[in-house]
Amino acid sequence: MNIIFGPVNSRRFGKSLGIDLSPSKKQCNFDCLYCELDPAKTIEIYEDVISVQEIIEALTLSLKTDQDIDAITVTANGEPTLYPYLSELLDEIEKIKGSIKTLILSNGSRISDLKVQEALMKFDTVKLSLDCATNRCLKRLDRSHENISVEDIKQGMLSFREKFNNPLIIEVLIVKSINDKKEEIEALNEFLLTLNPTRIDIGTIDRPPAYNVEALSYEELRAISLQFDTSLPIYIASRKKVTKKPSAYSNGEILQTLKKRPLTQEDIDVLFDTESKDRLNILIEEQRVKAVYNAEYDFFVCSE
Ligand code: SF4
Repeated sequence: MNIIFGPVNSRRFGKSLGIDLSPSKKQCNFDCLYCELDPAKTIEIYEDVISVQEIIEALTLSLKTDQDIDAITVTANGEPTLYPYLSELLDEIEKIKGSIKTLILSNGSRISDLKVQEALMKFDTVKLSLDCATNRCLKRLDRSHENISVEDIKQGMLSFREKFNNPLIIEVLIVKSINDKKEEIEALNEFLLTLNPTRIDIGTIDRPPAYNVEALSYEELRAISLQFDTSLPIYIASRKKVTKKPSAYSNGEILQTLKKRPLTQEDIDVLFDTESKDRLNILIEEQRVKAVYNAEYDFFVCSE
């Protein structure tokens, strides 16, 4: 059983070790159409539970082998907040991790549970998924376990946000013809404006999905990002399916584009041709455009 995986190097988190809280099989209260794991019956409680001691022993060993770890990412073949000893596990990790940062990737379904909130409060960064702000979409796309309601999830996120002062990142995965519709984006936009997360990552299917569903292109994701309020800190996280070539932007077009939605360097690499990048650099020198740091990314914004 591989409880610990990695390390993986990422520009955002540096050298990161992963902890899989469900290494034996998929244990999840969702059965998302886009899941990279095989379809599985949803569950409410873990059937296979590994002990905190087992995890800590494996982690201690990995930390001895892999020096200079920057982050520990808690995840699962399924949903990590279903692990019954999450809070206790974090207390034990705290004792051995030194200055290493902790991050959890959760589907957000259990965030209204105060015990789950208590465990998540112990992380340096919490990343929660929210693909849908309507129950109809949650049932269709995330195929959630019975009794899970989007209203509970939203209320839970709001109450958690009030007390959690570290970065809270929301991940929205968009699937073609399912949650890319105007009414679903509007519902998400309305809720996210109230939640005010540190960052919103918008992505699409990057790996072969459990069911027959389709990804969006980068350009389609960008069009969707423009439907959200301009004040929301949106980062387009998937750029594998780029269909168009980089384009030429005049100074005015660059400023207009940034007014509609701040861009990261990765967006600029996809959208701008070489001359447009040179124009952008001049606009930065002239202080008409500035870079604003937001939870691991620099976003270029118009300063006019
Ligand atoms: S929440 Fe994650 S693990 Fe669970 S079904 Fe969805 S994608 Fe798969």
